[in-house]
Formats: sequence, structure tokens, C-alpha cells
Amino acid sequence: MSAAHPDDLTLLMLLSGETSELETARLRRHLAGCSACSSALSDLNELDQTLKTTLPELEAALSERSLPEGDPFRCRPDEARPRRRPARPTDEVVNEALAASRSADELKLRLLGAVRSPDDALREALAALDLLEVRDRFGLGYALDEALYSMVDGPARWAHFGRASRDTVLAARSDPRFRDASAEVAYPLDDLLGLSLLVEGTACNWTGDLVRGGRALRRSYGAFARSGSSDYRFASVELSESQRRAFLDRAEEALHLAERARLTFEFSLTGDGVDPGGETDFRQNFALAVENARQ
Ligand SMILES: [Zn+2]
Repeated sequence: MSAAHPDDLTLLMLLSGETSELETARLRRHLAGCSACSSALSDLNELDQTLKTTLPELEAALSERSLPEGDPFRCRPDEARPRRRPARPTDEVVNEALAASRSADELKLRLLGAVRSPDDALREALAALDLLEVRDRFGLGYALDEALYSMVDGPARWAHFGRASRDTVLAARSDPRFRDASAEVAYPLDDLLGLSLLVEGTACNWTGDLVRGGRALRRSYGAFARSGSSDYRFASVELSESQRRAFLDRAEEALHLAERARLTFEFSLTGDGVDPGGETDFRQNFALAVENARQ
């Protein structure tokens, strides 16, 4: 017998057939004459078999890890498409909406300026919006999108903006004229409502008002479901809710939601190059909404 006993790694390689023919023959010769090594090999073999049978079960258990029954974030509301399909837009409506989205930037800046002002400027700016107009919906939407990516810059102000914007959208939604507005095809009010609530909920993570934030995020998820939003919107809410649960020491739920969101972001980044910074994504969502409505 050879004097050098093979180490465990070499024995494992032998078990998985990774040793060369020459090496295998040498090891077999050694094992035939060395009881210590052959017993080590049978131990390793047993361990290897146990791992092979339990690993898939473990992986399955991990992938099944989900949120508790009754959790509003248990499933993404993918199937919750709008019950009332929007009217098929004419070319005129589509062109009008595209022009509106381009001219909404000035309005966005005015709203953001009002958010930063110390007085009632925001309430006034919101009251001046005409949400029957597509342009005004885009302007408010762009401003809310920008708020999401500027949280560090005064979360209390953004929470206020989210809440005030939510009130404005809810008031508009209760007006029957809005139901048949062509603007509803290009940019549903429920999308704006979801976004307002997302801004409020995300800002609450920063200010520490986690109960209010939880309520806002739950309602945001529901509003996006009603408007038939893109997965990107659902993922944004999940990411914010994940952050909230991490603050509440519910780490496992936080991980679950973050993972679900990550898959969507990865998919949209590799899929069609969505810019997670806001406007580009928003314009794409709009184009998608119009496309969906046309089908
Ligand atoms: Zn040996």
C-alpha cells in the first residue's frame, strides 16, 4: 500500500467521478489495502447521499417561504385587471396624450416648487390642477415620481405631498365627469392615486410613521391593481413595504418581498431596458396602457 493517505477532498472527488483514470486506479489500490481510508470513504458516501436527498427538500422549503395567510402582500394582484375596460382610443386621443406628456414638465416643476415652499402653496397648486386634462395628470405623476427618488431630501415634505395629492385625486374621482374623460384612457386616476399613496408610504418609512405608512402602501397596491398597472409599479410598492417590515424587525417577510421585487426589476432591466428613474418608465407605461386599451 502507498504511504500517503488521500485527504477528504480527494475522496469526495473520487465519489463524484472527478478524478482522472490514473488517479482513480491509484486510489482504488490504496483503498483496497487501507481500512482507515475505506471507512472514511463510506462515511463520505453516506453524507453525500444524505445531502443529495435533503438538499432539494430544503431548497423547495426555502422557495415556498411566503407571507402569512391574510397578508395583503401575500400575492401580487396580477390577475386584478380593470373590470371596466377603457374605451378604445382614437388616434386623436393618442396624439393628444403624447403631446400632453411632453408639455407636462413645466407643471411638474411648478408642483415640486410648491412642495418646497413653506406655506399653502402646495394646496393652491393642487387645487389649480384640472385632472380632466391629460397634461395635468402627467404633470402630477411626474412630480410624484420625482418625489420617490428624492426621499432623502426632506421626507416629511414628501409625506405631506403624497397625502395632499391623494386627497386631490380622490376628490376628482368622485366627480362623475371623470368616468368618461378621455384622460382616463391615457392615464387612469387610480394610477395617480396609487402613486400618491406610494409616495406617502415611502416617506413614512423615512419619518418613522410606520403604521400610517403601512396603510398607505396597502392602499397603493390596491389602487395599482384597479388601474391595471405594470409589474414595475407593484414591485416599487413591494420594495417600500419590504423596507417597512425590516424596520419592524420582520426580516423574513422583508426578504420575501424584496426578492419578489428584485425579480421584476431584473426582468425589466434585461427585458426592455426600463429606466427605473421615472420619466422614461412612465412614458413607457403610458405607451403600454394605450397599447393595451387598443387591443
Ligand atoms: Zn489510507
